[in-house]
Amino acid sequence: MLIAKGMPARPSFLSRLTPSGLRSRLVLLTVLAMTPLVALLIVQAESSREQVIASARTHAASLAQIGAAQENDVIQEVQDVFRVLGRVPEFSNPSNGTSCNAVLHAVERDHPQILFLATTDISGRIVCASVPAAVGADLSGWGEFRHVVQPHGEAFALTRPQPIAGVRVQQSIAAMAPLPGLGTDPSGVFVAELDLGWFAKLASQIAGDPNNRAVIIDSQTSTLLATSSPIAGISGEQDPTHPALLAFRSNPLGGVVNGAGPDRKSCIYGYAPMQTVSAGTPHPGAILAVGIDWEGVTHDANTHLLISLCFALLAVLAAVAAAAWLAESSVIRPVRLLTGVARRLSEGELGARADLPRVPVSELRLLGNTLNTMATALQRLALTDGLTNVANRRHFSQALEAEIARAIRAGHSVALLMIDADRFKAFNDRYGHAAGDSCLRRVAEALERVPRRPADLVARYGGEEFVVLLPDTNLTGATELAAKILAAIRELNLVHEDSPSGLVTVSIGAASCRPRDATDGLRLVERADLALYAAKTAGRDQFSVATPDDEGAAAE
Ligand code: GH3
Ligand code: MG
Ligand code: MG
Repeated sequence: MLIAKGMPARPSFLSRLTPSGLRSRLVLLTVLAMTPLVALLIVQAESSREQVIASARTHAASLAQIGAAQENDVIQEVQDVFRVLGRVPEFSNPSNGTSCNAVLHAVERDHPQILFLATTDISGRIVCASVPAAVGADLSGWGEFRHVVQPHGEAFALTRPQPIAGVRVQQSIAAMAPLPGLGTDPSGVFVAELDLGWFAKLASQIAGDPNNRAVIIDSQTSTLLATSSPIAGISGEQDPTHPALLAFRSNPLGGVVNGAGPDRKSCIYGYAPMQTVSAGTPHPGAILAVGIDWEGVTHDANTHLLISLCFALLAVLAAVAAAAWLAESSVIRPVRLLTGVARRLSEGELGARADLPRVPVSELRLLGNTLNTMATALQRLALTDGLTNVANRRHFSQALEAEIARAIRAGHSVALLMIDADRFKAFNDRYGHAAGDSCLRRVAEALERVPRRPADLVARYGGEEFVVLLPDTNLTGATELAAKILAAIRELNLVHEDSPSGLVTVSIGAASCRPRDATDGLRLVERADLALYAAKTAGRDQFSVATPDDEGAAAE
């Protein structure tokens, strides 16, 4: 790819990465990393919700099957009742009304599912009834009567009851069986009305949940034959859109379906066929549907799903917070700190150092240490004279300022020696500039070697001039050291043919003071310089002491 000259290179991914950018990328990565975990939690919660619904569906279907089976048992029981009653003498003699009424009433009372019991004569007229007011009513018009009463007719039949004067017929089916006569032919029929509401109630109560509801629907007319609480009382209406009815039409053996029943409540409906008419008449009859409240089923599963979602959210938030904290403490803060130190160094604050002892990222610790080493080297370079390796003038100025401040606080005196090589121009002229440099290095080494306290500072003041800063030293101490320096330089035996002694010598101006304010440092330098001038004027290779300072600090 051709890059135009002067065009700035496109910044790399890392160079564009600011600390806050790094944090948001880490947070994003954490969220991405957490996504499968969260998805797993949600999928698990969703699948357990589906399991709960599936088991509720199975439950509803089995409740409907059990309810329908109960009806079979009851029908069987009714057949037994008819068989037993057939042997009772009262029913062989239909004229004995009062006593047979009492028997039927007692039997009816013992069987809560039987609403009404009666016997008829051969013409269909009620002879005996558990409700005496029904005696005399005509049942010959009932659908199955003819089949049962005829010689060799059906031994048992179910039929739709029709109203009987004096009997409050509820949602029911009627069972009929021939009443044995004296010969083989029947002398009438037994009739029992069975309470469909009883079946609905029983089916809804099997699971012991008051929110379950059961309905019995006539599949042909869509009529609600019976309903249990909590929807009791709405039977008799037509409900052609009942989900169990619609499902039953495609699966007459029974099953399960979701939908809203007559009370518009969403339910899981299990449904099963019931016997309502004689086996001889081929139509589907009634359906028993048991509904389990959808809200009740899903409530716990939804709560579980919600809790899982909350946990997932909390987990993501915790992970994001941890990632942000980790990014902040291990990378962003150390990088900021390093950047700050680098900026301070670049602004000339050479004492700035990075302190990263507890940073977990070892590369950043290493970078911090390297930066510190570099700063120390830089500081040393910035404060050292390149030719002689003693402190430079900047270093001297800082040390003087610090020392004056310290001496003001402590009430100490400070002394200064200003040292200048004698006739050095002539030395350079005769021996060359390189030899002059070498000579200055030897002089500096000699100054460093002269015995003195560790706090004393030798610095190159400029050109062939040096200073020695002497903290906590009076003029006596300073002049003693000046004498030693003169001797030490002479002992170097550096040949200087243009010097009267034939050797390189120095002149020294000594001054000291007990400083009272910060400007006394400058005055001390000036006074030492004047003393040096005096030493030069007096003939060189000697030291001179500064006159007492009348204006500023008290001279020592
Ligand atoms: P005096 O005795 O009065 O001090 O005479 P002087 O010649 O030493 O003084 P002057 O100020 O006239 O000359 C100083 C000379 O020191 C001039 C310069 O050539 C020399 N000089 C200053 N700095 C350096 C340096 O870094 N290297 C060398 N080789 N010579 C230097
Ligand atoms: Mg000079
Ligand atoms: Mg000189």
